[in-house]
Parts: sequence; C-alpha cells; structure tokens
Amino acid sequence: MDTSTLARVTVTNPINLKELYSFEEPTTAELDQVFARARAMEPLLRKMSVKERVGHMNNVRQYIIDNREWILDRIIEETGKSRMDALTAEVFEVTDVFDYFEKVTEKLLKDKSVYTPLPLLGKKSKIYWEPLGTVLIIAPWNFPFYQGIVPAMLAFLAGNPVLFKPSEVTPMKGVMEKVLEGAGFPKDAIQVVYGAKNTGAQLIERRPAKIHFTGSVNTGKKIMALAAQQLIPVDLELGGKDPSLVFEDVDLERTVNGIMWGAFTNAGQSCTSIERLYIHESIYQPLLDMLVEKTKKLTVSHAGRDYKSPADVDMGTVTAEFQIRIIEDHIKDAVERGGKVLCGGSRQPGTHHFPPTIVADVDHSFKIASVETFGPVIAVMKFKTEEEAIRLANDSPYGLSASVWSKDLKRAERVAREIITGNVSINSHMLTEGNPALPFGGIKDSGFGRYKGEAGIYTFCNSKSVLIDVQGKKIEPHWYPFTPEKYALLTDLMVALFSKSKNWVKFAVSGLKIDNIGTKQKL
Ligand code: ADP
Repeated sequence: MDTSTLARVTVTNPINLKELYSFEEPTTAELDQVFARARAMEPLLRKMSVKERVGHMNNVRQYIIDNREWILDRIIEETGKSRMDALTAEVFEVTDVFDYFEKVTEKLLKDKSVYTPLPLLGKKSKIYWEPLGTVLIIAPWNFPFYQGIVPAMLAFLAGNPVLFKPSEVTPMKGVMEKVLEGAGFPKDAIQVVYGAKNTGAQLIERRPAKIHFTGSVNTGKKIMALAAQQLIPVDLELGGKDPSLVFEDVDLERTVNGIMWGAFTNAGQSCTSIERLYIHESIYQPLLDMLVEKTKKLTVSHAGRDYKSPADVDMGTVTAEFQIRIIEDHIKDAVERGGKVLCGGSRQPGTHHFPPTIVADVDHSFKIASVETFGPVIAVMKFKTEEEAIRLANDSPYGLSASVWSKDLKRAERVAREIITGNVSINSHMLTEGNPALPFGGIKDSGFGRYKGEAGIYTFCNSKSVLIDVQGKKIEPHWYPFTPEKYALLTDLMVALFSKSKNWVKFAVSGLKIDNIGTKQKL
C-alpha cells in the first residue's frame, strides 16, 4: 500500500494488524489557515522572553513525566515497540534533552560579544540570535514522539512558531496536541498537521523559513529539491548503515551484549543501529557464536503477552509492512549470493514481528552489507588489521554513526578519528545520542545539519551580526575622499599589523595619523 498517494490515511497496529483509526488529509484551504495562524504567532514568539519559552518547555516536560504511561501506550500501539524501547528512546530521551536545554538555552541565546580587531578600535561587535520565522518539521515513523517534539521544541525555544508533520505511518493523532494543551503551552506555537507526502509538499510550497527533515535519503533529496525552488534552508537527518568495529582485546560478553542492543533495539529501525559488524579475525568465531546464542534467547513475540505491559518483549515489531519487504529482499539477496543466516531470517505470520537476524559470509557486494536495511539484521564480516577495519567502515555511501570496541582507548580514538561519520561511540553504540550536549547529524548520504547540543538551538536562529560605532565627527579611513596619503597609511598599517612579525611602533604611528585624518577630512 502506498500511503503517500492517499487522501485518506489509515493507521494500523503492527503487533496485531488491527486498524486503529483513519483520517482525511487536510484541504489546501485548511493548510492556508494553519500557515496563517503560524505567521500570526511569529511576532508574539519573537517578543516572548527566552526565560518564558524555557518555562513552557519545562511545563511540557513535567506533563510528559506525569502522563508517561498513556503516551507510551500510544507509541507502542502505532510502532509495535517494546515498552522498554519506547521508554528509553522516546519518553526518557525527550525529558533528558529538555533538561539539558533548560540549563543552556538562556545562555546560548544571549547576545554574544565577539572580537573586534584593532583597525576597528573603539567599536563593538555582537551577534543577536533571532528567530527565523515559521519552521516546518517533517518526521519519520521510527521515533514518532521524540523526532517530532524535540526539534519542534528547539525551534520554539529559538522563538519560532512550528508546524509539525508527523509520518502518515505513525501519526499518533492527537497526542502532541493533548500534551501541549495539558501543559498550558501557547496555542498555535506548535501546530500538528496530519497527512502524507502531498501534505508535506504543500507545506513546503507555502514557504516555511526553515525545514528540519528526518527520513530516508530519497525523500530527503525530494525535500531539498522542493526547498531549493524557494531557497528554504534545510537540515536533513537521513539514513545510515552503521559499522561496528570489534578489536581482539574486548571483554567478549560485555561487547556481545552491547552489539545485540545496538543492532536490535527498536527492532533495528533506527538510522544509527548497527547494520555492519566487523570482528577481528582472532575472536571472530567465539564472538559470533556467543552473539548468535544470546540473540536466540531474546523474547521477540507478543503471542500470549500483553503488549502494553513492561513484561512484554525484548524486541518489538517492524513498524511498516513495506519495511519488512525490504528486509526480506536483503536477506534473499544474501542467501542467493552464499551468505549464511545464523538465526532469524523470516517474519512471524499475522504480525509484523521479524526475529533478530544474523547473516555471516557476506561482503560489500551484498545488499545486506551496503544498502540500509532498517530492520533487526546484522551483516557480519571479519578484518585482519586496523587499516582494513577503517577502510571497510568507510566503504559506504553513508556517514551517520559508528562504534569502536577495544580496551586500548588510544587505538579506539585513533580509529574513531579515521571513520568518516557524524557520531562515534567507543565501547558502546548510539551513546552519543544519549548525551543531549552532543550535536547529532551525519555527513555523506546521511545528510547535513546538526540538532541537539549548541547547534540544536543555533540551527533554528538567524545569527545577526551587529557592529556598533558611536556618533561624532570622525569618518572612516576607507570612506571618501580617497587620497594618496590615506592609501599609503592604510598600506603601512596593514603591513605593520598583519605581517608575521608585527611592528607595533609603525602600527601606532600610522594608526594615529589615520585617526587624525579621519577627524579632519571633508569631501
Ligand atoms: P520514512 O519515514 O520511511 O523514512 P520517508 O523518508 O519517505 O519515509 O518519509 C519521512 C517523512 O517525509 C514522512 O512524514 C512523509 O510523509 C514525508 N514525505 C515523504 N515524501 C515527501 C515529499 N515529497 N514532500 C514532503 N514530505 C514528504
């Protein structure tokens, strides 16, 4: 089913395949009204103090904490996640990120005084961090709560009204509104617009001031093409094919536990989950054997379990049917080329559960080792040397995240520097995302732009440069009238001040003379 072409969106529970609800996409008139309300908010939010904005975020955070159980229920119903995954990567993560921005936002948005060079002596230079205008957030289906509310709140903190278009696969209709309303959040500061790709495209047509997009590479290219027509700036958080490099000196059991979580959390539907595992040849077999043995013990079926209970499963379902077809295609391609499926490999009927799958004897000519699978699947390969491990990790169109496992932290950092990517966790996986102070984003086909960390606020700001001079009689040396004397003095000043070895006396003399001319000269 290609939901993107439907005017009516139907949402299904991937655990039991029951329809949850359906709705119509908005009309063009409704989209116009949404935009008009956002534009009307622009001057109000611009004037709202940063302290007040932070206060609103804090109220939302508290509302989420107090109402976490029903929010988790809604996330699970639409995504099929295990409750633990929904708690850690969505609700816990959101409150953690908000806590960090409570601490730093006022400081980040204060006018920043910057260096003023000697030729501009007596003047002041500042940066004002101002709102951009209405920001459009387009989100995917894998973390429907986190990936909507985090960028939306950061854009709001910077003083922008927000339009949030969730994925049509997991719209969680009504959840964001209930959270915002319950927290007493300013009406229309963040509006949710439900619909599929046509709705997204129509929102872009109305020229938001910025687009923050998280999703697939192909859609990212389309968004950028649409945005380019109106020169709308974009941040693109796209896919990944994360490598994990395991060196010979690791503690096997800890590392296996970490890799299992890094690959199978959220059923592998995270753009930063481990998809390629490279093991040093000396520990290849024992590590792989332990990984397969432990993976087989994970509970991965909701049969006989209450899917809303904390005792549900270790690994939830694949959310979308179309994703299962991609996973199956990659496994089929691997098997046809001689790859060995060591566990998992095929879906459970009547549900979107797809057991964790480990495939060995593969290389980069296989889809499973080169194209994003976005499911609970690891392609396992071995390496002999550090150089080979780095070369293999970098042999990918993606550059989102990676992990390096070794007791030798010097080596681990050396390898981390060599991997062409946006994030690296050492002796862990995806832990960079656990620290809201670290900016998140990728390079190469994984996109560009960063959110979280200081960049997470500044990406939604117009950084306005301001230079302040005083009023008086004096004119600037580079203003008219141009004279040979001024030309010579400015040249002397440049040579004295900017040469490798400074000549402070000459600088002072030419500076004083220029100053003197500036006071007298008239056209
Ligand atoms: P996924 O969620 O599988 O990563 P996409 O990258 O296709 O899928 O979609 C991510 C988000 O982008 C969704 O909210 C989707 O509705 C939206 N979208 C898809 N195509 C377009 C488009 N052409 N214009 C605007 N938004 C789009």
